Amino acid sequence: MLFFSFFNGISEFLFGLSAFIFLGFATWYSSSLKYAKGLKALWFGLFVFFIAAGFYKRNSFFVYYGVSTDILVFLRLFLTVGATVLFLMASSHILLSKELPVHILFSFISIGLILSLYAVFLAKNSEMEQNLSLIVPMIGLAYLFLAFVSQPNLRHHLGIAIAGLVMFGFFEQMAFFTFLGLPFSYVFTLTLLLILAGSYFLMIAEFCALDKKEIQKNLEDFSDNVMNIVKASPFPILISKLTDDTIVFANKNALKLFELDVTELSRYHFKDLFVDADNRRLLLEKLEHIKEVQDFEVLVKTSFGTTPFWLLASANVINYNGDMVLYVAFQDITSRKLRERALQNQADRDPLTSIYNRRYFEENVAKRIDTAHLKKKDFAVLMVDADHFKDVNDKYGHKTGDKVLMELAHVLERSLRPDDVVARYGGEEFVAFLNDVNEEVAVAVANRLKNAVANAVVYSESGEPVSWTVSIGVAPSGISDEVSLMIKMADDAMYMAKENGRNRVELYELDNFKDLDRLREPKEQIHPVFDEENEEISLLDGIETSRISEE
Ligand code: GH3
Ligand code: MG
Ligand code: MG
Repeated sequence: MLFFSFFNGISEFLFGLSAFIFLGFATWYSSSLKYAKGLKALWFGLFVFFIAAGFYKRNSFFVYYGVSTDILVFLRLFLTVGATVLFLMASSHILLSKELPVHILFSFISIGLILSLYAVFLAKNSEMEQNLSLIVPMIGLAYLFLAFVSQPNLRHHLGIAIAGLVMFGFFEQMAFFTFLGLPFSYVFTLTLLLILAGSYFLMIAEFCALDKKEIQKNLEDFSDNVMNIVKASPFPILISKLTDDTIVFANKNALKLFELDVTELSRYHFKDLFVDADNRRLLLEKLEHIKEVQDFEVLVKTSFGTTPFWLLASANVINYNGDMVLYVAFQDITSRKLRERALQNQADRDPLTSIYNRRYFEENVAKRIDTAHLKKKDFAVLMVDADHFKDVNDKYGHKTGDKVLMELAHVLERSLRPDDVVARYGGEEFVAFLNDVNEEVAVAVANRLKNAVANAVVYSESGEPVSWTVSIGVAPSGISDEVSLMIKMADDAMYMAKENGRNRVELYELDNFKDLDRLREPKEQIHPVFDEENEEISLLDGIETSRISEE
């Protein structure tokens, strides 16, 4: 019974306790608010203040147990200072969203402790005690009031405004008591606590509504921003529906690149921009498995179908305004492709005659032989060598010799079918692969070539007509499927043609060659121009070529 006496009875104590429990509940419930820590500090502050009020000088409970009044007053003062420090912490959180620095907290507590000790035990000054226990917390409350109502972004919230008013209510209650001597009403104070709790719920409700609106707005802003980035992207970007392939979005660069009319976008279909339907099918097939394809090369055209160009596409399947769509960003690689092709051509072609070189011939023919095998077709390899070509060089000069080689290459190319392959094998030697021919046809083609060459003419630098002949060896299919062996056989047949008088065609027949057994003895230096040391210089350089011819 006595314990409750400092609250003017048990009912007041219970009222106080329930007010604090309720406020505590509201405080912890509001932990989603951004200054929730401040509200917690405020709860502790008010609670400590409430306890401090219990150490009342004439509190019969403590007096009954013989606690000296000095100790009571000291405890009261010290707890009041503690409550004020908690008020300041709360204000700092609410106003600045910051913790109060530790050294400030300690200074406050130390000063409060020293002043309390001084007032109670040394000065024994009751006026000072009064001031300390009332004016010090008033400073904290005033600061809290300011914290609640001075935040420009919080001020218009009703919950915050009410919390501020409650602080003002506490402040005013204590000011009236201190300066005007009006009686202190516990009921009023505790009611303020309940109102404070109510204000927290109001804040939560307001912030929830605000949050929702803000999230909505942020989301809209975000998608606007994304769209602006996509629109301004230096890469052409297209979005097409997966269901009917219509184009639903094209950024500025895509409109320009594909020559699309922005007012009639839905008229276009993504498939119309592809040159090769298989290319598009492959892209879609890939997307079915992985939903995202990077660096996929596509050959496309504008909506008017002008010259095709190469693009590198990166595609994703995404949800766009509720539809499943294909999002494709492009990079123009036409110039890169052209460069690649030019380089490839350089690697595959002979620089003097522009026809294929030996490396290309060997690679390509190997594949063709495989195909011919699969299709059960015959084929033949021809070795064509200019007769006494050294004499042409000697008589008309190296430049004319070059001219002869160029013309010879063209005659061969012109005389063969598009799906045959002809290449410069070395200096004045050429090879040809004849597709789908049997022995007789191959020999006939070789004779036709031989005659066409014999009829060709070029003019020397001094204007004299120059003509020349070739010897041709024919290697038919059926003996070997290896390119190198086929070439060797043709070469052997060609040598036989040379031996038999030149300007003629000779067919490789196993019987003719079995004694010679040349296939097993690789000849050295048959093709001097492709010899490592001479490869580059011998094709075009007159001095070096004449050096070879002297050897
Ligand atoms: P054969 O009838 O036995 O084939 O006699 P040939 O003189 O044609 O044979 P040989 O292999 O002795 O000489 C080939 C000559 O071809 C030697 C070389 O100077 C010449 N030659 C090789 N490459 C080039 C070239 O790129 N330009 C020119 N002008 N001549 C070349
Ligand atoms: Mg030769
Ligand atoms: Mg020759």
